[in-house]
Amino acid sequence: MRAISSLDWRGAGQRPRDLILREASVLDPRAGIDAQHDIVIRDGRIAGLASPGSAELDGAEVIEAGGLTAVPAFFDPHVHLRTPGCEDKEDIETGSRAAAAGGYCGILAMANTQPPVDTAGAIESLRERAADDACVPVGFLATVTRGMKGDELTDMAELVDVGAIGFSDDGLPIRSARVMRRALQYQRMAGAQIALHEEDPELSGAGVMHEGEVSALLGMEGVPSISESTMIARDAALALYEDARIHVQHLSARESIEVVARAKDAGVQITSEATPHHLTLTDEAVRALDSRFKMNPPLRTEDDRQALIDALRSGIVDCIATDHAPHAAEEKEVPFEQAAMGVMGLETAFAVIHTDLIVPGILDLGIVIDRMSAGAIAFGFELPSMSPDSEAHIALLDLDAEWEAGADGWESRSHNSCFAGRKLRGRCQVTIAAGHVAFRQRSFALGVAT
Ligand SMILES: [Zn+2]
Ligand SMILES: [Zn+2]
Repeated sequence: MRAISSLDWRGAGQRPRDLILREASVLDPRAGIDAQHDIVIRDGRIAGLASPGSAELDGAEVIEAGGLTAVPAFFDPHVHLRTPGCEDKEDIETGSRAAAAGGYCGILAMANTQPPVDTAGAIESLRERAADDACVPVGFLATVTRGMKGDELTDMAELVDVGAIGFSDDGLPIRSARVMRRALQYQRMAGAQIALHEEDPELSGAGVMHEGEVSALLGMEGVPSISESTMIARDAALALYEDARIHVQHLSARESIEVVARAKDAGVQITSEATPHHLTLTDEAVRALDSRFKMNPPLRTEDDRQALIDALRSGIVDCIATDHAPHAAEEKEVPFEQAAMGVMGLETAFAVIHTDLIVPGILDLGIVIDRMSAGAIAFGFELPSMSPDSEAHIALLDLDAEWEAGADGWESRSHNSCFAGRKLRGRCQVTIAAGHVAFRQRSFALGVAT
């Protein structure tokens, strides 16, 4: 397991200021911590938890955290930063700032940029830019196939050597089973994770939303659930056969969850993720043909949503990933069929799940906190933890804060949130990545030096 701080970002190699988070309610389900403490952070690590109000450390900045909940900061294994090629939508600085604002201490960027990230040079140049621009640690995936064309594999061993964190043709499935099989053979040798956007293009056709009652009513072409589940079944079988590891991105359908559950039972090395939008919205949201609700995979039915929630609780879905996909207004302000697929997610992920699933008692806060960072494990990183001697990756949450998504603007360069205008409850106030204060809500009082 690698340290999250070993990823590229501005804080790398810099000694952060020591911190005391005073009187925080500390919650870390994996470490079995759920009590009020002072958190002492020295040299970027959690030096210890002291009884509330008692901690002292010369030269430390004190952050008054009474009334706030300190949890392991989040890790998002699925983000689109749009660099290189579409920096008008997002870049490493704005995307990582959006992440920090959402409580994230680490993110992984997908490779479907323009051009796609498929060479050692591209990875090296992204890493250099992240070292200058990223306000939280950022890792970069490379594509599985050259140019994401689906036929020729990239030089996976060389890409891992220069620091690619894993591989994905996300945006597109890997159509050929033969190519997928060879990619898995390399995966086993090179060790880095392969993340899969699972979809059978033949079954998806020209679909723009979930195939079901609502699509029939609207007269829209639909994407059936089996487009996703049949590809997952294929790749799970191949991974088992090749003794390789796969991570399935953005699960959306009950059928897919059943396939993942069976694969886990059969011993396949498979992990999976679900997005906040698939966990909280259904294809009913598409009725008004608002393109903010257009994404791939599409929003599905209430039955699918319930299956996702159950799977997140049981661990069949390992982690929550946003699939943060910034788009320019002109790509979204067109008729539904023509609009670009994808929504932003980093700045609202926790608040949306808190508002729609935790506050009503559907999911336990502890489970959500766990799943918000568990994506780190799937890609070989140490899980953020509140245990003493861990790297200090902490999100300070105000669970009672009420706010309107987007009302104060976005840190992201884009604005295509499907939650914009929603009244949300729960907000990240401060994000600490490896001991550095990576984000502080403007309204949050500044700390006092001791
Ligand atoms: Zn995708
Ligand atoms: Zn994606």
